Amino acid sequence: MEGAPKAGETVEVRSSDGAPIALAAFSPHSQIRARVWCWDACDVDASFFTRRIEDAASARAVLGIDKVSDALRLVHAEADGLPGVIADRYGETVVVQLLSAGADRWRDAIADALCGLAGVERVWERSDAEARELEGLKPRTGLLRGKPLPGTPVIHEHGLAFKAEIDAGHKTGFYLDQRDNRLQLREIVSGAEVLDCFTYTGGFAINALRGAAQSVVAVDSSGLALDMARANAALNGLNGADWVEGDVFQTLRKFRDQGRRFDVIVLDPPKFAPTAAHAERASRAYKDINLLAFKMLRPGGHLMTYSCSGGISAELFQKIVAGAALDAQVDARIEKWLHAAADHPVALNFPESEYLKGLLCRVAR
Ligand code: SAH
Repeated sequence: MEGAPKAGETVEVRSSDGAPIALAAFSPHSQIRARVWCWDACDVDASFFTRRIEDAASARAVLGIDKVSDALRLVHAEADGLPGVIADRYGETVVVQLLSAGADRWRDAIADALCGLAGVERVWERSDAEARELEGLKPRTGLLRGKPLPGTPVIHEHGLAFKAEIDAGHKTGFYLDQRDNRLQLREIVSGAEVLDCFTYTGGFAINALRGAAQSVVAVDSSGLALDMARANAALNGLNGADWVEGDVFQTLRKFRDQGRRFDVIVLDPPKFAPTAAHAERASRAYKDINLLAFKMLRPGGHLMTYSCSGGISAELFQKIVAGAALDAQVDARIEKWLHAAADHPVALNFPESEYLKGLLCRVAR
């Protein structure tokens, strides 16, 4: 290293023979010492952020998401050339997370650029993710641009309404990445007895109700999340789900011991393995819940199972689920590989952006 760059300052990255490689944001605290802004010579200034954010917005505009929802991911970090920057749009409100020293340093430029997008009235910061600690940054939340929020924004997704808990909820307030997968569930549940594990604010469970499931049981360990789930169900006039507060690992065992059976089971757990170092313990946890789920499925039933762990590859996840089916002594096949929605793209030079892996499995009749 030459000189003494400050956290977030733009530095030139050079190869061992001195040839310039990239311009990057310096991060003295993180193991990822520099995050690339651009590979070619470019000026990293306010207009750079405006350009990248406008590019990200116009890339979304052609995806047709506005036809099915008024909420979407506008900026997906590295995949939009903006490492450390996540921005989700909920109607007129953009919620931004600045998770790296470089992103933090350019807060004003990023907020101005987001606020300059058509239809955006305010920018709210939710930089309270754990990732900031690794960058030596303190949590930061609050209004960055525009007038305060009039209340919890209600968003619409494939004809259903949900509250986006932007000041207290997970991520930026809602799991936008599962948008299309929730619709996929709706399409396979007619007349089915459905179990939604890790329901959070009821995303999958409410879609199951809309899809005319015969019954829906939804489990989460957070009573607060279940309160929001009940409110979301009521918002859509869809009542009748059984919201169960409990630990999924224990609840699945209890249901198994009671001899309960389901036609469709959803497993959408939190990330058990944030990094590859946690992969082994996480693999056991995934195997456990998938095995229990397979045992409780009726013949011909569906398991919709996910991992959002960066430390578990798609290939490993498939092996874990295969092992679970084998141990549960069920014959099952994969009908579909499921991914995050298209507003969560994957950069070819940064395959880690593909964190969400899902399998739709069907057990034999
Ligand atoms: N399927 C949801 C997102 C799930 S997020 C959606 O589409 O919006 C993961 C959820 O798992 C959180 O709500 C968290 O409270 C819950 N959770 C984490 N560990 C749990 C456990 N051991 N048992 C039950 N719920 C758990």
